[in-house]
Amino acid sequence: MAEWKRPLPTIVKQTEPYWAAAREGKLLLQLCGGCKQYQVHYRSFCCFCWSGEVEDIFARGTGTVFTYTVVHRNRAPGFAEAVPYVAALVELSEGVKVLTNIVNCEPERVHIGLRVRVSFMTASDEIRIPVFEPDQDADSNHSSSEEET
Ligand SMILES: [Zn+2]
Repeated sequence: MAEWKRPLPTIVKQTEPYWAAAREGKLLLQLCGGCKQYQVHYRSFCCFCWSGEVEDIFARGTGTVFTYTVVHRNRAPGFAEAVPYVAALVELSEGVKVLTNIVNCEPERVHIGLRVRVSFMTASDEIRIPVFEPDQDADSNHSSSEEET
């Protein structure tokens, strides 16, 4: 594992469940009991209707690239060594979008609509950062259907 040099998130009591799930390799969303919308950023209330009835839901972990950019220059410590990297907005299967990185993929292969799956990068003993990588299952299904034609 490469040493993590980027800034680490600050874990507070309210966000501990999110990071505990990430340590287990699960992406935690919240579903609002009031307006039935999902939210990504973990908090004690719904960001749409301010209801306090937010329920923890494990995401399926699949989605598609909604939009992205390839970062070629970034002088910030921890990021400078990582260029080029892909910053992307991924639309999860649940319909909510998450700002993330696409990893384990040449930047030239990333495109809008690319099917991706959550993965986790170990940043410290306590912190695993959710990122996304191409969904090999989706790729193989797509490839096999092409071969059949
Ligand atoms: Zn709501």
